[in-house]
Amino acid sequence: MMDPQTPSDDALVDLRELARRDARMQGRRALAAMPRLAAALAEAPGERQAQWSLHGFVQVLPGGGSQPMAELEVRAVLALQCQRCLRTVEVPVDEHALFRLVDVEPELSMDELEAQDEALCATAPVDLHALVEDQLILALPLVPMHASCAPPAAPDASVDTSVDTSPFAVLQRLRPR
Ligand SMILES: [Zn+2]
Repeated sequence: MMDPQTPSDDALVDLRELARRDARMQGRRALAAMPRLAAALAEAPGERQAQWSLHGFVQVLPGGGSQPMAELEVRAVLALQCQRCLRTVEVPVDEHALFRLVDVEPELSMDELEAQDEALCATAPVDLHALVEDQLILALPLVPMHASCAPPAAPDASVDTSVDTSPFAVLQRLRPR
């Protein structure tokens, strides 16, 4: 069995090279190919796909110098379980992430936590598929819920049909014997 952590070759992207070329990439990825995300879904993802786009660019820093960056946008509709009515709620996700491409993973400082972008170690090619899945997992709402839940379904007709109250039953009793 294939290790799910092993990226396929077509998923590996040299983000620094992408930034140098100011290049864009885009594609689709089946939700079914994202086991960590699929575990959080209310139903099997079936044929559903996430759309992603990636833009590499170089940011000129105020004090001179430059910083390679990557911007990732991921869109998908996720079927989650509504925490109010427990039925499936479709949650559209449009997640946007800005990565500062660095050589060394920085210490988790206050500055780092408050930064608008996220440091991403990009000395080696990065697994784009894992990055897309990570973004979707980060986008999962803590408490997925319908804006307004549908009223509970009517009780099952076979349970509800009482012989005594049906018009035919009433007629039957009224009819002289
Ligand atoms: Zn609901």
